[in-house]
Amino acid sequence: MTRVAVLGGGQLGWMLGLAGIPLGCSFAFLDPVEGAPSAAVGELVVGGLDDIEAARRAAAGAAVVTYEWEGVPAATARALESHAPVYPPARALDVSQDRVVEKQTLQTLGIATAPFHPVESLADLRRAVDAIGLPAVLKTRRGGYDGKGQSVLDEPAGLDAAWKLLGDERCILEGFVTFDRELSILAVRGRDAEVACWPAVENHHRDGILRLTRAPAPGLDDALQARAEASIRPLLDELDYVGVCCVELFDVGGNLLANEIAPRVHNSGHWTIEGAETSQFENHVRAILGLPLGSTAARGPSAMVNCIGTMPDRDALLRTPGAHLHDYGKSARPGRKLGHVTVTAPDDERLEARLARVRELCDGAGLP
Ligand code: AMP
Repeated sequence: MTRVAVLGGGQLGWMLGLAGIPLGCSFAFLDPVEGAPSAAVGELVVGGLDDIEAARRAAAGAAVVTYEWEGVPAATARALESHAPVYPPARALDVSQDRVVEKQTLQTLGIATAPFHPVESLADLRRAVDAIGLPAVLKTRRGGYDGKGQSVLDEPAGLDAAWKLLGDERCILEGFVTFDRELSILAVRGRDAEVACWPAVENHHRDGILRLTRAPAPGLDDALQARAEASIRPLLDELDYVGVCCVELFDVGGNLLANEIAPRVHNSGHWTIEGAETSQFENHVRAILGLPLGSTAARGPSAMVNCIGTMPDRDALLRTPGAHLHDYGKSARPGRKLGHVTVTAPDDERLEARLARVRELCDGAGLP
């Protein structure tokens, strides 16, 4: 058995375990929550992700250390480097945890982003608005996710209020992108620097939370796929990355702007479990262990629906052809990702019919 230690023990860790166990791996997870989803597939060490002693306990005997949350303190990842290789490298955390460093890194690599300015005071904010124009989006540099820690500025009169809301922390001002749609590109890079990309996917959010992914993205052609891959390949090489990474993109008339880097398996890649030759979870495990990577080809059209705040009726869902249920075993709470459903079909027409039924079941009563 090859031992894999994972920092974070949520549903992503659970799915890493489900994919890695058949490859001959055993898992240990570090998570602050007793009974976190990953406890079902390995040993759970309960402790804060900043608790280096607890992290060392989780990493004991591990051939490799990885993480399933981009908020893991880079110091924890670095402290474990003397025990076992840590993949993705800790620098991926440094870059993705600070939106200014993230966007600077992307731009240095020739990957287009929205215009941006670091903002540390109200005076900075005014200067940044002069440079970028309105509308614009003010975001905290660190810690924001799922649309939290952000404020859209439409008019100069709103600057003071936005600064009062977010200005306790260092911020970034970004130009507001009027995108046609949101895409993401997932890639895996092996220890030998081989890179494979899954087809780019289209993402739909509600209340800042991913609701639906369509894979491959409708209308995806070779040219768009190539542009999406050009938004991630240079980054993976620059970071000497190992494992799965995701870059979230805005599609503006076929031109892509990178918005965010997730240095981990990603919700917009859950469709790969049933929808691709090799899932993001299996390929992440293969990559960090230095095993050959599997094909990232799609098996056909598919879609993924997140179950947020409530789970669909299990019997009804399982009676729907092509529907695959993933229940993370979490207690229900408004706005919480409790599970997801992947829908597969032999063609687009049947996918739409099956997806309509799955959405009906998942969007049932109780949604926030
Ligand atoms: P983020 O936390 O950066 O992933 O942003 C969450 C969501 O806010 C994105 O998925 C977009 O829908 C929206 N958003 C973020 N940044 C911008 C931007 N610069 N322009 C327009 N919409 C944005």
